[in-house]
Amino acid sequence: KVVTRFAPSPTGFLHIGGARTALFNWLYTRGRDGTFLLRIEDTDRARSTPEATKAILDGLRWLGLDHDGEVISQFERAPRHAEVAHQLLAEGKAYKCFSTQEEIQEFRDAARAEGRSTLYQSPWRDVDQSAHPDASFVIRIKAPRDGVTLIKDEVQGEVKIRNDQLDDMVLLRGDGTPVYMLAVAVDDHDMGVTHVIRGDDHLNNAARQMMIYTAMDWPLPVYAHIPLIHGPDGKKLSKRHGALGVEEYQAMGYPAAGMRNYLARLGWSHGDDEFFTDAQAKEWFDLGGIGKSPARFDFKKLENLCGQHIAATEDAALLHEFASYRAAAGQETLPDDKLTLLGSGMYCLKERAKTFTELFDKASFILNSRPINLDDKSAAQLDIVSRGILSELTPHLQNVTWSREGLETVIMGFAEAREMKFGKLAGPLRAALAGRSATPSVFDMMLVLGADETIARLNDASQ
Ligand code: GLU
Repeated sequence: KVVTRFAPSPTGFLHIGGARTALFNWLYTRGRDGTFLLRIEDTDRARSTPEATKAILDGLRWLGLDHDGEVISQFERAPRHAEVAHQLLAEGKAYKCFSTQEEIQEFRDAARAEGRSTLYQSPWRDVDQSAHPDASFVIRIKAPRDGVTLIKDEVQGEVKIRNDQLDDMVLLRGDGTPVYMLAVAVDDHDMGVTHVIRGDDHLNNAARQMMIYTAMDWPLPVYAHIPLIHGPDGKKLSKRHGALGVEEYQAMGYPAAGMRNYLARLGWSHGDDEFFTDAQAKEWFDLGGIGKSPARFDFKKLENLCGQHIAATEDAALLHEFASYRAAAGQETLPDDKLTLLGSGMYCLKERAKTFTELFDKASFILNSRPINLDDKSAAQLDIVSRGILSELTPHLQNVTWSREGLETVIMGFAEAREMKFGKLAGPLRAALAGRSATPSVFDMMLVLGADETIARLNDASQ
């Protein structure tokens, strides 16, 4: 059974790279009836904050990446990490090192001067350690001195790391606290993690974590180290190029489904498929489809996919998501009559909207109430001539069957009788109904607003 985990450090928001790592783990697991665990790596007490943990949990929730079981705190597991260090010590696979900071520094200085490796070689590795029973010590692992460590990575292939490049790393510090590398290995093992999918900035750590697995005789997990995300210029992702917290994407109005689709395509591919549903992504996602080179962040593609997802979402679901977008943006909740209108107008609002922000903008003809505020362009549209035309047209709308066909017949007939192009009529109508030019079509607005409200707005405008 597949068990994966997402293991963020709560030192900041959930950035786009972390969100993608979480998504890959989630997709891999959910397509295989596995378990997806969440571990907060809060061992760095100085840099970890509860606010960051909350931002990570909120970001995952917004993205819909649900995890199984309780959230695990790495810090709370410190006694277990220490226990493993002591077990390795008892088994002779680790040793107490009494070297002082000064001695280690001297070793390094001398090594540098002589052009040797500065990796510390403790003299305590192979000597009787009972000599210093009371002095403070760290526990170091006995790393293999020669040969290579082979990381069989599902993305990177076979990566060899020479063992003489790995030192006898410290497992437990002088104050008895575990180091990060020990914590990760022990937690992954204890949590039963079968697949470690994470950024390739952790590839070298894998060699050190494997050392602990091997010493403990634990079966190794499958590793998949994903290339990082770059900016469109091929350089490290900068803020301007998308290195933002996921909550900022939420605030910009990107729908979560579009975000998931885009992030899945960021470094993973399935043939030529660009647009896909969650169900398809879960079915298709595999480690073999992850590319070896860094993916480039592309806002245009994100927007394009988001637009397709908005268009493909059921009106009721869209209304629900739109309402949470507004709530997250701190806007007041909408009264029921507006919500009903929004629901019935969703079919035309979602056309060509790439974000909820755009959708919101287009919905202003519903959200605003009479008297409608006119922007400058609309005010100019409603000159004396147009107002006259509108006041002539309005009575014709009194007894129309309020359907697209009925409205088209009357309005087109009215324009024809006056030898006017429909376009000449559409401008003032739009101004009267919405007070602005970014709106759905005039007919759609009339249908959504209904006869009474439409006629009232036209009367307001023709005065
Ligand atoms: N806490 C690490 C990070 O946020 C991830 C560790 C791991 O996935 O093994 O980069």
